[in-house]
Amino acid sequence: NDRDLIDRFYRLDGRNYGAYKSVTGDYDYGPFTLHIDRVQSDPFASPSALRATSTPQALGIPEDLLDFNAKRIAVADFLAREFAQMIKDVPELRIAKCGQEILERSYVQVSKTLVEVRFQCQFPARGRTILGREMARLADVEIPYAVMDSLDFRDDDNAENTALGKNNPRLTALRTHVETYLDYLALQEVLTGNEWVAFVADQSLLARRSGVSDLPLTNAVPFVSPDSLRASVSLPYAGTVQGMAIPAGITLIAGGGYHGKSTLLNALQRAVYAHILGDGRELVATRSQAMKIRAADGRAVTSVDISAFIANLPAGTDTARFSTENASGSTSQAAAIMEALEGGADTLLIDEDTSATNLLIRDARMRSLIKSEPITPFVDRIRALSAQGVSTILVMGGSGDYLDVADLVLLMEDYRCLDATQQAKEVAGLMTRERFDEQEFPAFLQRHPHPLPAPKGKSKTKSRGTEQITLDRHDIDVSDVEQIVDPGQAEAIAWALRGLLDPARPSGFKQGLSLRETVDALDEALNRHGLSALGGPERPAFWVRPRKIDVVAALNRLRALQVAAGNSLVFVK
Ligand code: ADP
Ligand code: MG
Repeated sequence: NDRDLIDRFYRLDGRNYGAYKSVTGDYDYGPFTLHIDRVQSDPFASPSALRATSTPQALGIPEDLLDFNAKRIAVADFLAREFAQMIKDVPELRIAKCGQEILERSYVQVSKTLVEVRFQCQFPARGRTILGREMARLADVEIPYAVMDSLDFRDDDNAENTALGKNNPRLTALRTHVETYLDYLALQEVLTGNEWVAFVADQSLLARRSGVSDLPLTNAVPFVSPDSLRASVSLPYAGTVQGMAIPAGITLIAGGGYHGKSTLLNALQRAVYAHILGDGRELVATRSQAMKIRAADGRAVTSVDISAFIANLPAGTDTARFSTENASGSTSQAAAIMEALEGGADTLLIDEDTSATNLLIRDARMRSLIKSEPITPFVDRIRALSAQGVSTILVMGGSGDYLDVADLVLLMEDYRCLDATQQAKEVAGLMTRERFDEQEFPAFLQRHPHPLPAPKGKSKTKSRGTEQITLDRHDIDVSDVEQIVDPGQAEAIAWALRGLLDPARPSGFKQGLSLRETVDALDEALNRHGLSALGGPERPAFWVRPRKIDVVAALNRLRALQVAAGNSLVFVK
C-alpha cells in the first residue's frame, strides 16, 4: 500500500538512479490506487508515467453525470482541468494543459465504473543519486493531495447534501461544465435540423485577448444579432437563447478594415468545438465539418485534382493530378479546397487576409487584359459548390465581386454585425459586372494513398505544439491547419497517420479503399472505442481527439505521401 511505497522511497535515498525502477507497480491509497507504470531510466529521460484510478462511487461523482458518453467526456475534461490546477505549483508533476475547448482527452478516462488520471512525475535526483526523501514527500503528500483535491467530490460535512448536489461548489461547477457541453451539442443538432451552418448567440464575446492568447478580451463589445437574422433556439440547460442563425449557402462578411470581420470568422472556425463556461463562445456553434481554407505557399501537394480551379498551366502540367514540392499561394489554396472536399467538408471558411487574391477574384479589367489565365477564380465556382451542398462563409472587404453571388451579406461596423443583404443587392444592381459563373462543379479524382515504406532505423511518432508532426524522418508542417487547436490533437494525429500509413496495420490504407473511406472508418472506430482506437502505446498519455478532416489535412502535408488516383468522385446532393 501507500506506506510501503513511501518506506521504499526512504530506503532508496542515496542509491543509484536506476534503483528507482524497483518501485514499478500498483499501490493502494484507500480511495484510489496509484499505478507506477513506467519509471524513467535516468533523470534526463522523459518523466515517469503514473496513473491514479478509482471509481465514480468512491469519489462521489453522481451517476446522472455518467449515463452517456458525451457526459463522460465533459466530466473527464473537467477533471483534467482540476488536476492541472492542483499540480501547477509542484514542478515534479505534469499533465497536459487544457485550452478553452471541451474535448475528448486520453489523460482522463471516465466510465460508469472507473475514473483514471494519467500524469507524469519527474523522480527527483542529485546528479544520478536518488533523492528518496523528496520522492517520499511527493508520494506521501503532493500526489495524494492533488488526486483527492481534484477528483474527490464528496462533502464530508454533509453526506445528504452531497447526494443532492447542494452546497458543494465543486460539484456544482462539474455539473455546469457538463451542461455547457450538452448545450453546445444540442446547438449542433439545431444547426443540422434547420440547415444552418452556424449560430452565434446574442451576448457572445468573440474577440480574443491577443493574437497569441485564446482567452476572452476584457471589455469586448458583446455580439448582437441583426433583427432579420435573429432566431430562437431552445437548449436543454440554457433554455431559450436568441442569436444569429447563418443558413446554408453563401455568406459574405464585409466591412471596413479593423471593424471585426476576421474576429467573427475566427470565432466561427473555432466553434466546431465546445468552449468552457466564461469563454464567451459557449453558445457559438459551427458545423463540425466546416474547414478553414487558406493559402500556404511552399507546402507540398500530392496528386490533387485542382482542375476545377487551375487548368492549362504553361508547361502543360496535369492539374488533375497536381503535385509540387513548393506550391504557390493560389495552387496551395486550390489544393486545400479540393482536399477539404475530398475529406468531407460541408462548409468552407475563407478570410481574405490569408488568401491568394488571384484564386478568389479577377476583375473585369484583368479579364480583358489576360487571355491565357489558368485560374478559374473561386467567385465563379462558389454558386455551383453551394448547389452541391457545400456552403461558404467568406470575409471580403476589398472587392465587391462577391456581392451578387452571396445569399447573405453581413456587414461589420464598429464590431456590430448588420444584415446588408438588401443594400448589397442594390449596389450590385447599380454597378453591374459581367458574370462568369460556372454552372456545374466538376467531378474530381479521389485518391488512394499507399502505406509508407517501413523506416530503416527506429520509428519515430512525435508532434511539436500544434505546428509540427514527425513520422520517422518526415516532418509535416501543419501550422496552416488552423483548426488543430490543442497540442494533444497534433499528437493524436501523428499516431493516426502512423496507423493509416503502416503497411502492417489492419486499419491502414489498402488497395481499393479511398482516402475518404479509410478515414471515415477510423472516425467510426474512434466513436466506438475512444482514442485507443488509434493504436500505438498501450496507455497514451496526452492525446486529444482530432477531427477526421484535420487528420486528412495533416496527411496531405506529408511530403513523402504517395497515392494512386482512383475513380471520379461525383458529388451526391
Ligand atoms: P478586420 O478583419 O475587420 O480588419 P479584426 O477582426 O481583425 O478586423 O478586428 C480588429 C481589432 O478589433 C482586433 O484587435 C480585434 O481584437 C478587435 N475586435 C474585434 N471585435 C471586437 C469586439 N467585439 N470588441 C472589442 N474588440 C474587438
Ligand atoms: Mg481581417
